[in-house]
Amino acid sequence: VPELPEVETVRRELEPWLTGRRIVRASRVEAPPGPKYAELERAAGQRIEGVTRRGKFLLLPLSRGDELVVHLGMTGAVLREPPAGHVRARLDLDKGEALYFQDARRFGRFLVVRAGDYAALPTLRALGPEPLDPAFTAALFASRLAGRRTSIKAAIMGQRVVAGVGNIYSDEALFRVRIHPATEAARLSRRQVARLRDAIVEVLFESLESGGTTFRDYRNVAGGEGRFVARLAVYGREGEPCLRCGRSIVRIVLAQRGTWYCPRCQRG
Ligand SMILES: [Zn+2]
Repeated sequence: VPELPEVETVRRELEPWLTGRRIVRASRVEAPPGPKYAELERAAGQRIEGVTRRGKFLLLPLSRGDELVVHLGMTGAVLREPPAGHVRARLDLDKGEALYFQDARRFGRFLVVRAGDYAALPTLRALGPEPLDPAFTAALFASRLAGRRTSIKAAIMGQRVVAGVGNIYSDEALFRVRIHPATEAARLSRRQVARLRDAIVEVLFESLESGGTTFRDYRNVAGGEGRFVARLAVYGREGEPCLRCGRSIVRIVLAQRGTWYCPRCQRG
């Protein structure tokens, strides 16, 4: 499932390609009815003014005051070449080029809203701070965690405490600082919160340098895979030895998601 490093990798590819380009036609292709592709056709005739990102959302401001909002969901990909199947939307651009939105599992979104009007996108409206922004300090992180009775893993993944971190990078960051993922968020010490903030920022930057993680489905705009999968320490490594102590990595289900940790390094 694409998280911040994957979405930011896509953004960096799209920005030089799309900025200033005119959308000739915007069309649904095998798109499910309903709000996920709302008002898409309205993008036609507008110019793309930039490619920005908030959390796991790509935001493309358009020239007539609209905004194209793209969320990759679980299996979404924004591609420059026509893929073999599961195309849900297509943008025809000037100079005869096109952009394809592929999504096998249909959790993705590709819609047009008035710029900044996220009434139909409650997750986007309630997003927490951007972790790669210098304003994401330990003090800010601590204030967002205060009073949260859920597990620290669920708190990180919930998007309101910090934007863009999901299953992979929450497991990896918690391993780095030896915190058990089921620890109640509000019970972390000030020192643990500060170290966890640093670990989140570090793992996101490192993955970004590797073009993100392709565990199964993630592809960049050129159709390539992220290379950070080779550097995952716990995620998806059930039964394999901990890189630090040798004990077998364990998988549990937490907040309805597979969660991997080392039972020796990360004691409850
Ligand atoms: Zn260990």
